[in-house]
Amino acid sequence: MSVEFVLDRLLAQDEFRRQLTLDHTLPARQARYASFPEGLDLRLGQALAARGITRLYTHQAQATGLALSGKDLVVVTPTASGKTACYNLPVLQAMLRDPEARALYLFPTKALAQDQLAELHGLVGEMKVDLKTYTYDGDTPVSARQAIRQAGHIVVTNPDMLHTGVLPHHTRWVKLFANLRYVVIDELHAYRGVFGSHLANVLRRLWRVCAFYDSHPVVICCSATIANPKELAERLTGRSMTLVDDNGAPSGPKRLLFYNPPVVNRQLGIRRSSTLESQRIAEEFLRGGVQTIVFGRTRLQVEILLSYLQQSLANRLGKTGTIRGYRGGYLPLQRREIEHGLRDGSVRGVVSTNALELGIDIGHLDAAILCGYPGTIASAWQQIGRAGRRRGAAAAVYVASSNPLDQYLVNHPEYFLGRDPEQGLIDPDNLLILSAHLQAATFELPLPAGEPFGEAPVAELLRILEEDGAVHQAGEAWHWSADAFPAEGVSLRSANADNVVIVDVTRGASVVGEMDQFSAQVFLHEEAIYLHEGMQYHVDRLDWEEKKAYVRPVKVDYYTDANLAVSIKVLETFASRPAAELAVHHGEVQIRALATIFKKIRFHSHENIGSGPISLPEQQLHTTAFWLEIPAEVARQFPRPAMQGGLQGVANVVSQVACLFLMCDVRDLGAHPEIRAPHTGAPTVYVYERYPGGVGMSARLFETASAVLAAAHGLVAQCPCESGCPSCVGPALEVGEEGKAVAMRLLELGALVPAR
Ligand SMILES: [Zn+2]
Repeated sequence: MSVEFVLDRLLAQDEFRRQLTLDHTLPARQARYASFPEGLDLRLGQALAARGITRLYTHQAQATGLALSGKDLVVVTPTASGKTACYNLPVLQAMLRDPEARALYLFPTKALAQDQLAELHGLVGEMKVDLKTYTYDGDTPVSARQAIRQAGHIVVTNPDMLHTGVLPHHTRWVKLFANLRYVVIDELHAYRGVFGSHLANVLRRLWRVCAFYDSHPVVICCSATIANPKELAERLTGRSMTLVDDNGAPSGPKRLLFYNPPVVNRQLGIRRSSTLESQRIAEEFLRGGVQTIVFGRTRLQVEILLSYLQQSLANRLGKTGTIRGYRGGYLPLQRREIEHGLRDGSVRGVVSTNALELGIDIGHLDAAILCGYPGTIASAWQQIGRAGRRRGAAAAVYVASSNPLDQYLVNHPEYFLGRDPEQGLIDPDNLLILSAHLQAATFELPLPAGEPFGEAPVAELLRILEEDGAVHQAGEAWHWSADAFPAEGVSLRSANADNVVIVDVTRGASVVGEMDQFSAQVFLHEEAIYLHEGMQYHVDRLDWEEKKAYVRPVKVDYYTDANLAVSIKVLETFASRPAAELAVHHGEVQIRALATIFKKIRFHSHENIGSGPISLPEQQLHTTAFWLEIPAEVARQFPRPAMQGGLQGVANVVSQVACLFLMCDVRDLGAHPEIRAPHTGAPTVYVYERYPGGVGMSARLFETASAVLAAAHGLVAQCPCESGCPSCVGPALEVGEEGKAVAMRLLELGALVPAR
């Protein structure tokens, strides 16, 4: 049976059809080709021909041409459009021409690096030349490291390893740095927020080291579709970039359906489970013999979906092995086997976390089911992109969960299909981040006084570091003067010095991750359920003195939510847009927060199924915030308790919807309403960044305030609940009977705030 057949059968069901909010066909695209660039090495041409490639897609040819002529560039094309050729071709060409040439590839995860290596090995093997390609990461045996440093033509690594394992030891990497022609940064969109701000500084260090060894590599970036790829690439690299986004790869037509599970309890706003609905829809495709991928949000969801599908299709497909699970944490061998099964068609279905949304090669599938919104529109498109043949029809079905972002998107498909609204934001000059890397930079090479480090002036910062004894000025340069390796203590993924380290007690006390203290009180208190890469962990013990959280993996059907008693002091207002109806501001704030109690909340039904106290010291956070202020004349229209509920509702929904515009995780933002804020003397809602100093999100919120508030209003207005539910402003229990109505009114006013 074909995709069309299964679609017809699904669409013949009245109920299914009724719940669709989008039925859209992405038209087929014709391939556009270009010939190999002039002067392409014969061996490379032959290797490509041996793999059936006799000409390039236009975007591949354009990228290769630019890179070979020494231009820095960023390539933005969809999943499976042959993006890797855009960097492999110029790099291999450069090496065939000059065997001394070197290249450095950066991928955000180890798994992706491994995958790339396999691809490179294939091409190099075909050419029968002596080009050595290696991964260099935490798993690389010490015995192999020296050979890689000396002989690796292409070194494939991740930003963390570049930061702690390569740059501080650059003297051992002379061959690489002195001959570095290309730096490849794939999955560029992954480098946003704190991680991206760190990488920008790691690259500043890299450019210094390259300059020292007299090399000036060309940078090739690749990104999924976001609103500002060129801007993000330029902010990250500090270079001026050429954008390549005219995709020449072909694709068959793709039917895109948005499905919102029916409401089963209108008052509480509860919908039928998105997990079960996804399972039902996936079953239709799999029964029809259509090769299908199902994306779940968490490991728990993936495992539920997988076991249900395996059970219900056991008779149909024979061995259950033909439907597989896939997630981070699987062994590489296991993953390779599943990927291979997907490519050769022996695996008919796969249920995966977002681990498969990244560039891993699994060929082209016929159908993709997205169980819940993966958090960013770029990710959603990548997941949808997993379905789609070069020829023939494909289908993608997005099944919305009841969380607010899901409900917003499923009800506003035009937002999803329209011009990409998501901005990848970074702030390389965040003081904490800048200071950490400035120290690492002086350790690596003395910093001539007056030499810039990125764009920010650093003279003052260096003098502060001098007072701390970290650096000293000798002659015309700043030198590192402390003992330790400064890069060691800095994690790129979250971090500042006093992070809470998360230890999995079941896996030989291995470290799962780190979290800053301010967030830790909310997410890592004892009995919290901590979610990391789709896995759930129970926090058994939090040792606040030692800054260690001891966790173990669990499978539970609830999450935890901590109550914070917050007070906010505005230290400086950067900008304001006053208006008669509602004013918006952004600036620098000091937050004091005390975690008081936590609740256990069941997935899907959002029932409160238990609670407990949290006893931790009060935390302070110096950061940036966006706030909206309701002028007294407007506030007078509402009774105080109604206003209180309305503000809470606005805080809840705006902090969720903001993630849509900022491309961030809900955990990156906090929100706090005050019925009479000391700073404004009026009802005020603060949305603040949880990372000390912020990374530019509140400034962007300020700029896009009217759009964000309009979107929040749209979400609440469209929600079928009577007086609030977890899908919009929060349950009536939290915001009161009037909460939803007042929140709607306030958001309506907010949408009137003039644009910048
Ligand atoms: Zn609602």
